[in-house]
Parts: sequence; structure tokens; C-alpha cells
Amino acid sequence: MKSLWNDADARTCGGDPLKLRIYTSRLLGREPALVLHGGGNTSVKAPATNLFGDIEELLYVKGSGWDLATIEAQGFAPVKMDVLLRMAKLDQLADTDMVRVQRAAMTDPGAPTPSVEAILHAIIPFAFVDHTHADATVAVSNTPDGDRYIHEVYGDRILVIPYVMPGFVLAREVYRRTKCMDWSRYDGMVLLHHGVFSWGNDAKSSYERMIELVSRAETFLEHRKATTVARRTGASTVTGIEGTIAQLRHAASKARGSAMIVRLDDSPEAAGFADRPDVATIATRGPLTPDHVIRTKPLAMVVSNDPPADISHYGAAYQAYVERHKQPGQTMLDPAPRWGVWPGVGTVTLGPTAKDAAIAADIVRHTVRAIQWSESLGGWQALPEADLFEVEYWDLEQAKLKQGGAKPPFAGKIALVTGAASGIGRACAEMLRAQGAAVAALDLNPEVTRLFNTADALGLGCDVTNLAAMQSAVARTVRRFGGIDIVVSNAGIFSPSESLDKMTAENWQRSLDLNLTSAQHLIQLTIPYLRLGVDPTIIINASKNVPAPGPGAGAYSVAKAGLTQLARVAALELAKDGIRVNVLHPHAVFDTAAWTPEVLAARAEHYGMTVDQYKRNNLLSLEVTSKDVAALVCAMAGAPFAKTTGAQVPIDGGSDRVV
Ligand code: ZN
Repeated sequence: MKSLWNDADARTCGGDPLKLRIYTSRLLGREPALVLHGGGNTSVKAPATNLFGDIEELLYVKGSGWDLATIEAQGFAPVKMDVLLRMAKLDQLADTDMVRVQRAAMTDPGAPTPSVEAILHAIIPFAFVDHTHADATVAVSNTPDGDRYIHEVYGDRILVIPYVMPGFVLAREVYRRTKCMDWSRYDGMVLLHHGVFSWGNDAKSSYERMIELVSRAETFLEHRKATTVARRTGASTVTGIEGTIAQLRHAASKARGSAMIVRLDDSPEAAGFADRPDVATIATRGPLTPDHVIRTKPLAMVVSNDPPADISHYGAAYQAYVERHKQPGQTMLDPAPRWGVWPGVGTVTLGPTAKDAAIAADIVRHTVRAIQWSESLGGWQALPEADLFEVEYWDLEQAKLKQGGAKPPFAGKIALVTGAASGIGRACAEMLRAQGAAVAALDLNPEVTRLFNTADALGLGCDVTNLAAMQSAVARTVRRFGGIDIVVSNAGIFSPSESLDKMTAENWQRSLDLNLTSAQHLIQLTIPYLRLGVDPTIIINASKNVPAPGPGAGAYSVAKAGLTQLARVAALELAKDGIRVNVLHPHAVFDTAAWTPEVLAARAEHYGMTVDQYKRNNLLSLEVTSKDVAALVCAMAGAPFAKTTGAQVPIDGGSDRVV
């Protein structure tokens, strides 16, 4: 592992201890083989002068909920050192008391709750302390001879602490072992099955010591020829599995009691792991570090093809595990799996949101590598399940998951929106996503892949009139998110004005293909997934031209009328599956790509109006925007329309030709 330290960057910190602390924390955070998603923690000890002129020794320690890769000054909690050191001497301390007393000892009550390892950081008598869950060191530790190997790797200048529960118990253990110890005899500390600590009196030495300690474990693995991981060569994509993925998501969502996301990883490494003949046994022995259990649960599931995606065995095993360890007053968390290995296919991760599933996917990618290293080193051996249970059901870990406030309305739901690169479609995709949905955004314009490119948004360049392209886009959506719950049929074209006697065959056909037939394909392709969806719904963007057609708009109006009829039939046919189908009829939505300022000015002039008058030319004299339409789509997708199907709702400011 290479040091990312850069003298020029470090100089911009101007020797300020907290700025240097931020700088090297981010260097650690940039290396996923050291820390993943909120894992690890860092601190710096520095004096501060308070309001009364007194100098106080403070520990600036990473706040809970912050990520080392992106941490800022306000991500460090300033805690009084004397209080932390007194806490280390206690025989017992309840977690809730620890948090309460630490918060009360902060010099800024608005700072985040200090890391659960704050007391341990305080005990270590060096200015800078760095802690990671380095893959290589933990992989060496997670083997039958791990204890011996760790001593072999690190010699006697490293403190080795057997596994104990993180938090106060760990801090007390280290305090007891070190209170009469000369710290200068040691360069760092390895916590078996957990991670590494390094320290130093300046930011650079503490950080570079961490890199050096992890590099030693990496070199050890290399010498033992234990760094190879399986990779599938050749075609790495198994086709025809989307139905099983959707069934898996359906079962998991049912087990959890609310919608879940399922994310498939069939990359060469994930597929190579899944192709190992021993995969079902090595994948189900436990996590890389106990810190991961809140994201992955203690055990992986083995996805079965027969019967497809049956997760009942996983739920039963999870329930039995909880029964074996639960204390009075503890209630079982949901029994849905968070990751699984799918022999012959790859790995899957599950989460209450797409972001959670993506975080689990990152953790699993590292876990899968570490499992194979440890297998080459004598066998993957995770912690006993009692230790995993203790962390999984630890109040302080559960608190991490609860951060982030109330659940958005579409959390765990999956929406597919066509015509999503601009105008109404883009507004719909963005608003559904803002309200918690994972969104597949389809558009002919390849720009859509740049606009929607996050853990919860997948932009797909796709011509909706090309059936094969649509099949592929639907399949990619299911592989990425696990299914489809909300279909927004929005892609369309406003045909050139032509009277019927002068209609060109090409324009007529183009309108039918794009405004009508593509929607039929979309419905047909998504019905199998909607049937397995959570509160499934289809929303059709038609037009005010359906109830109130205009001369010269035959190609457009006829196709949109057909589209509305298609939706009505769909509402009739799909009601028995609980799939709602509703139609909206927008009119005069001008903030779309079709309406350039020039076109708008020309139309307004044609009617003898100003642009503003033209925009508000409706009963309510209100301008209707793409966002207004998106808000109606979100209402149709959600609770307000939960008991409505087959409805047609205008969104046009009121039209005397429609009311
Ligand atoms: Zn840790």
C-alpha cells in the first residue's frame, strides 16, 4: 500500500493540527482497502483556550455518522481529555452513559456524537491516532493460525489485543493492559478480527505508520501466495435471471415488511467467486470485521434457483440465531438477508434503499477478496456468532442506521421513467428520486447516462421504439435494483402540424410508434416485474389533446387517444394483480426542450398575446411547469392514489374545453 502523503498539500494546512487531521483522515478514507463507508476513526489531541482564558486539553475525534473520505472540521467532536481519561478508569460503563457523559464533555454542544472509540483514542499518549479496518491485516487475523501469523508479521513492537467488543469494553481492556506500559516501545496496535491502530506526534508519522503496518500484512500475504482471487474469464453475464432477482426482492421485501432494493454484481471477480465449488461454505462463515454486520448481517444467504429465490431457510436460520443470543428486552430485527452468493452467477446485496445496497456491495467486494486470501492461508474463520450478535444488536451500532431522519415515501421503491433526459420526464425522475425511489431513467439522448449516475439513479440511453433496446433497459434495471414498482410512460413526440388530407405517412407512423406502440411494449415488458412489485403502478403521460383535440394535430391526438385507451384496458386487466394504472393529461407545459424562447414568442404572437399571457392562458391563469406535472406523477405513484385506478386527471390550469 502506497502513502498518499503530499508535502505541498500538507503545507496548505499551515501546521494547524485539526487541518492536518482532516487531511490525513481523508487520505485514509480514499483507500477502500483501509476503511469503507463510515468505518475507521481518527483523532488529534490539542489544547484550546476557552471563553474564560483557561487552556483545556481536547481530543478532536471523528464524529459518529461521518465518513473519513469526506470529513470536515465540523465532523470532529471536541471532547475534554480529562473526562475521557477518567472514564477509562471505570470498571463498568453503560453505552448510554458513555454517550451522555461524552456529549456533556464536548466544548461544542452542536458537534456530532464522538466515535465509540473516543476513550481508546484518549488513552493512547500521542497527538495523532489513526484507526482502520484494513482488509489485509484482518484477513491474516481471520484464520485458524491468525494470532500466530499476526505476531509473525508484526514482531514485538506491536501490541496485539485479542478480540473484545468495541467501545468502552475495548478501551477498558487496552487501559488495563497499558497503564504501567512504556508506550514508546510500541509502534502500533492490532485488534484481532477487528483492525489496526497507529499513532505519532505528527500527522504524517501516524498516517505513514498505518500504511507501513498494512503493507507488512500485504507482503506477508504475497509471500504466502495468498493474494489471488478468482476471476471469471470470457462471458461474465448470465442471462435470463431477472425473474429470479425480482422474486428474491419480492420475498425479501415481504420478510422485511417494506420495499427493499436488490443489486446484482456479476463482475468478473464476483462471478469468479460464485463459480468456486466451495462458495456456499466459505461465503457463509461470517463478516470481515464485526463493524460490517449492521450492513451485511452476520451471514450471507445462498441464492437458490430451485425453488427460485426461496429465502425462508435464511429467515429461519436468522431467527434461530437471534433466539440463541438475545437478551431480555431485545427485539428481533427484520430477518431479510443483506447479501448473498448466487452460485454460478455472482453476488447480490440488499438494502432498504439503493444507497444501502450499494454500500453493502462495496463491503461485499472487499469481503469476497479477504475470504479468498484467508482461504489460501489456512481457512476463512470469522468471529463466533455470539460476538457478531453483540455488535449487530448493540444500541450504538443501531443508532448509526437510524441516522438520517424520517423515511422518504418511496424508500426502497423502484421507478422506471421514459423520456427522462429533459422536461417532464426529467422532472419526474428527479422528484421520484428525491422522494426516496431508485430510478431508472431512459432516454434516446445519451446525456441521460450522465444526468442519472448515482447509487440510486441509473441513466440508460435507449430508443423506446426499439423493442430489443427496451428489453435490455428493463433487464438492466432489474439487475441493478431488483425489480420495478413504478412505470412512468412519458417518452413522446409532438408531431408537426398537418391536416389529415396532407398527412405524411412518415409523421403518422412515427407518432404511432413513439406515442402509442412503445408504451404498449413498455407495459408488456414490465408487467412480470410489476406483478412482483411493491404497490405497483403504471402512470401514463397522455395529453389534453385526448379530451380536447385540436385541428392539425391528428397524428399526435390519435396516438395519445389510443394511449389513453391502452391505459384503460391495462387498468381493467391488471387490477386483479393490484397494479394501478392512471393517466394524466398535461397541457401547455412550456419548460421543456420543445419550447425554445423563439417558438414560444412566435406562438404567443400568433394568438395576439404576450409570452406571459400565453403561458397562463387557462381558467386559473396559472403557468403549469414540469415540476407541477412531476408532483402529480408522485401523487399518482403514492398514497393519495392508492385506491384509484383507471383515472384520467388533467393538469392544465383548467380548460373550458375539458371541464
Ligand atoms: Zn474499529
